[in-house]
Amino acid sequence: MEKSEWYKETTDVIQKLRIEMPYKAVKKVKLERIERIVEHVESNVAIGCVECEQSKKIIKKMLGSIREGNQESIKTYWKDMSNILNHLSSVHQLYTLEDRIAFWVPIGMGIGIGTGIALGAVFGRIHENMTLMAIGLVIGNAFGMSLGVAVAFVQTEVLKSKNQII
Ligand SMILES: [Zn+2]
Repeated sequence: MEKSEWYKETTDVIQKLRIEMPYKAVKKVKLERIERIVEHVESNVAIGCVECEQSKKIIKKMLGSIREGNQESIKTYWKDMSNILNHLSSVHQLYTLEDRIAFWVPIGMGIGIGTGIALGAVFGRIHENMTLMAIGLVIGNAFGMSLGVAVAFVQTEVLKSKNQII
């Protein structure tokens, strides 16, 4: 399908920014993510999403904010970014690795704390030792956090293959 004028202009600005800005700054503002957002917004508008249509203007403004590069404009930039990401995840099932981690870690922690309490209670009771209970909890916590992060990474890989990671 023919790309819109907005798409051509926006990708053009992104290419220019990539050349003009130091590599570190490009990474810092996550310019690659903006690029992927632009791709998705373009196709979502084609299927009639009104909110994505509105976010076209915001994305233009965001690129302006990058160019300005002062503290205030960068603050607005991240706020705009998170609004757009919220919409993309809730309506279009598009996610970032960060939000998959934010989603799975609390679940993993829940499981881990549950396991830790159970383990701690069993061993603590056998040995009549509160310290063992506490250790059970600490291990459960660490285990839960790693579990959450691991699941998030696996899910991100699966979503990536379906082009659902931005
Ligand atoms: Zn949309």
